[in-house]
Amino acid sequence: VSLQNRDYDLADMRAEEERAVGILRAQEAVRRQGEIFCKGCKSEIDPERRAALPSADRCIDCAKRRERSKRRRS
Ligand SMILES: [Zn+2]
Repeated sequence: VSLQNRDYDLADMRAEEERAVGILRAQEAVRRQGEIFCKGCKSEIDPERRAALPSADRCIDCAKRRERSKRRRS
């Protein structure tokens, strides 16, 4: 492998990596935004809860209810 080719491969790999990172960042941004409306009761999740737990997809009541039912099942 000539130096020229290696440089090209490295640049190619870096471009590929950057593209992957860009996709990850975009997905992360969506995830960080989280859900505005609760998946359980469809009411708006408390903005404070969303700020504290950006991945929250349920309001605190539904999250608690879910936790309880999970514990009961196990
Ligand atoms: Zn809810």
